[in-house]
Amino acid sequence: MQATPQYREEPHDIIAYELHGNGYLNITSRCTLRCSFCPKHQKTWEVQEYDLRLHREPSVEEVLEAVGNPAKYKSVVFCGLGEPTQRLDALLEIARTLKRQGALIRVNTDGLASLINGRDVTPEMAEAVDSVSISMNAQDAELYERHCRPKRQGTFGAMLDFALRARESGIDVTMTAIDGLPGVDIGACERLARQLEVKFRRRVLDVVG
Ligand code: SF4
Repeated sequence: MQATPQYREEPHDIIAYELHGNGYLNITSRCTLRCSFCPKHQKTWEVQEYDLRLHREPSVEEVLEAVGNPAKYKSVVFCGLGEPTQRLDALLEIARTLKRQGALIRVNTDGLASLINGRDVTPEMAEAVDSVSISMNAQDAELYERHCRPKRQGTFGAMLDFALRARESGIDVTMTAIDGLPGVDIGACERLARQLEVKFRRRVLDVVG
């Protein structure tokens, strides 16, 4: 049975929700990418039974209050319909606090945090984050840009570099690609991940986790 999602008083945004025994945190709707397969670009904010539209970004205190005792979760995962590292400072503060309470912390990310911050942020992330799941999404830059429609230049290379540096900083790294997206060669994506000496997971379209 799933726990009741934690809402803010007004408006009723879901900022913490439970899936598969993990606590998921929805801290922003902002993204560097505009993925064609993203629910919000298909005019829905619903993931599983949760409406993840945010009317404003929750404060660090609101997120921590929504999580409550993290011991009730297998792990705490930053994952909503936005890129959590867009709020890197808030993410790290929340993660550090929950980690002190014994939580395992995962960040589901586009892997562009170093690009948008203009520096390698993986050492500071490694102090607060146990693992990252990085959306590789395609085996080459051209296909990546077609599916993910980035607002910035050089995103595919920056994402691969982030994966490498995150591993070198001591973070457990898994890269993912979605089976079923036109042109995506899951085997080639997996080989790319192996070259970076990180794990790989095949995802299925529209399944969060
Ligand atoms: S990075 Fe994630 S939330 Fe952002 S547009 Fe792509 S799929 Fe959607």
